[in-house]
Amino acid sequence: MNAYIERVLEATKKKNASEPEFLQTVEEVFSSLEPVINAHPEYEKASLLERIVEPERTVEFRVTWMDDNGQYHVNRGYRVQYNAALGPYKGGLRFDPSVNLSIIKFLGFEQTFKDALTGLPIGGAKGGSDFDPRGRSDAEVMRFCQAFMTELYRHIGQDIDCPAGDLGCGGREIGYLYGQYRRLVGAAEFGAVSGKAVCTGGSILRPEATGYGAVYYLREVLRHDGEELAGKRIAISGYGNVGWGIIKKANELGAKVTYFAGPDGYIHDPDGVSTEEKLNFILEMRAKDPMHCEPYAKKFGCEFVPGQKCWGVKDVDIYMPAATQNDVNLEWAKKIVDSGVKYYIEVANMPTTNDALELLRSQKHMVVAPSKAVNAGGVSVSELEMAQNAERLYWTAEEVDQKLTGIMKNIYDSSVEVAERYGLGYDLVAGANLVGFQRVADAMMAQGIF
Ligand code: GLU
Repeated sequence: MNAYIERVLEATKKKNASEPEFLQTVEEVFSSLEPVINAHPEYEKASLLERIVEPERTVEFRVTWMDDNGQYHVNRGYRVQYNAALGPYKGGLRFDPSVNLSIIKFLGFEQTFKDALTGLPIGGAKGGSDFDPRGRSDAEVMRFCQAFMTELYRHIGQDIDCPAGDLGCGGREIGYLYGQYRRLVGAAEFGAVSGKAVCTGGSILRPEATGYGAVYYLREVLRHDGEELAGKRIAISGYGNVGWGIIKKANELGAKVTYFAGPDGYIHDPDGVSTEEKLNFILEMRAKDPMHCEPYAKKFGCEFVPGQKCWGVKDVDIYMPAATQNDVNLEWAKKIVDSGVKYYIEVANMPTTNDALELLRSQKHMVVAPSKAVNAGGVSVSELEMAQNAERLYWTAEEVDQKLTGIMKNIYDSSVEVAERYGLGYDLVAGANLVGFQRVADAMMAQGIF
């Protein structure tokens, strides 16, 4: 590794020793940067890497809310405004008990390069809380969201920072968050929050966007090999919003999801999750109890394997981890290698541990695509929502879909082009890191040193 990269990596490790997820993502991104750092000695003089790993601003705050029994709860809220060199900070809010500063920083760092990859004018940020919305009533979720926004509102705005959803923060939460923001600032400033319902300034395609975008990206990967989606079988993990979008678009384009995994085990449905009825059942099942997918097997008479992940099954063409971080570790990666399946398409943020990713990428027979490229359709449509809000009009689903298709193709094409230009061959992981980094670096260099 280049000495400058190594030096900054070591210093970052020392400084952030208690943040393993954050360090994991810094290591992953930095491992791709050697060619661009070699080509730009001026970056070291400008302390570019030292600056890029440090968030521009981190806000941590108390969130106090009352449950339905009149009892108070105190949670911790975060917003890490990572880098706004390319535009207003942009990125989701995660509401999950696992949330801590390390998780939010890893997501914010990833988001910076993901947002850069979209080619749209947005910087990177992430936020959230250790609040657990599961099992909470609508009224409790509303009170939590109102309390959360009562602090957050002073740090965001349509030209400053535009939060959206992430795990545990869906349409309902975004509605409450935006409502409280509007109430506090006394203005219908739609562009300050994205992922809103269409009736309140949202983009018609935002719920589907991440899943659709992932399938559009996959289509480009297959096209590169002279293959098409029709007839392909896919194994996914996670069946939330993103999994739902993947299943819908895969069905539309003639592919099918034949395996999906949840926290309790995995389902094998050889006919695919291919009907409206099955898709709706998944939505209902998840709304009732997000921890169990077994009811699907009972309902549709298919196999359920408890306590296992579907990584390693052989009768599929594509794996798409779409659950959460570090879903695939070295042990699972070995099973994936042994399965002989060619395509490993990351969807969730950082679904693969670094050693597992290295093993998968080193396989001659495999194609590995990185999540920061594959899942960028979600934030892209969020930015289109901001653009619509700025124009004070609504775009049709067709208009948004057409733009999304173009953005995903550009992300893929630019990643391929840059990796090849640096002599790395067909390397989608390095390509995405290099394109994202280069765009942020150009903007930071242009804006002076601070
Ligand atoms: N949380 C999503 C992501 O990881 C969406 C962010 C957004 O729409 O701003 O990209």
